[in-house]
Amino acid sequence: MTAPMFERVALVGLGLIGSSLSHAMRRKGLARSIVGHAQSEKTRDTALRLGLVSSVYASPAEAARDADLVILCVPVGACGALARNMAPAMKAGAILTDVGSVKGAVVRDVGPSVPKGVHFIPGHPIAGTEHSGPEAGFAELFEGRWCVLTPPPGADEGAVRRLAAFWQACGSHVEVMDAQHHDLVLAITSHVPHLIAYNIVNTARHLEQVTDTEVIKFSAGGFRDFTRIAASDPVMWRDVFLNNKEAVLEMLGRFSEDLTALQRAIRFADGDTLYKLFSESRAVRRGIIQAGQDTADADFGRHHGIPGKQP
Ligand code: NAP
Repeated sequence: MTAPMFERVALVGLGLIGSSLSHAMRRKGLARSIVGHAQSEKTRDTALRLGLVSSVYASPAEAARDADLVILCVPVGACGALARNMAPAMKAGAILTDVGSVKGAVVRDVGPSVPKGVHFIPGHPIAGTEHSGPEAGFAELFEGRWCVLTPPPGADEGAVRRLAAFWQACGSHVEVMDAQHHDLVLAITSHVPHLIAYNIVNTARHLEQVTDTEVIKFSAGGFRDFTRIAASDPVMWRDVFLNNKEAVLEMLGRFSEDLTALQRAIRFADGDTLYKLFSESRAVRRGIIQAGQDTADADFGRHHGIPGKQP
């Protein structure tokens, strides 16, 4: 039995990502003890009942005290206030990281309150589901997925290596990049697709000529997949758009131009343009499957990686 990588890990936030990290750490023996904090008593009680943590605290500072790894697993907009609260309790040499879907805003909000001697290394596991809360987590969530680390300039290299090794032990591939670049890439691969999903589901909901029952009854593959994405946590996604404004607006501008071109092709019955574009898009799907980031299985009845859970 190898020694745990960390003595005490504090999970600040015990939803999908926090609980999945607990499952992964316990399965691999990565921490001697795992403690936690969440804002509601209900989540704290559930986390204890499920054995996600050995102790749970109503105070984030108490959870962070003496931890050698503190992981913020809360919506992006909550990170700054929590970091300010925990700062006086954090021990020198500890690593402070997060899992937020936006990185520039976390650096802006958390960076100024990081105490001297604490290594602040923001991170983002590109792994998730549309489920949230402490019961949604599972150990395999990070397996074969990428985790992006965005260490600020001058970050301690040893601490970056330790955190990278931690994510690799959770099953992830690790890539290091600049926070701004992360936000631009994720705007097009994750944030804009979620916005489109929220928008199309709302458009369908408000159509007067089509009843709500028809939308549900005849939900063909395309619409059904959008409803899955649009079932994601509203607080998390509100915070993503409030905190990655520039990159999302830039990508939305590009998206609108391309959509207008498609609209023209349909209006002028330009089948060649439509065929060419649809053929090129198929290649992207094949690339994702070849890279092991999805499977080619038909999606009817898929379980989205959650053993025992129905879609
Ligand atoms: P979640 O399941 O909704 O859980 C959020 C957790 O944060 C809950 O334990 C919640 O506590 C706690 N929390 C919220 N606001 C808080 C506050 N002000 N103070 C203290 N605790 C607070 O969310 P999640 O999916 O795990 O997402 C967490 C982070 O991971 C987000 O930043 C998100 O961007 C990022 N992320 C998510 C995914 C995904 O697919 N879901 C993927 C990658 C990264 P209560 O339950 O008590 O309210």
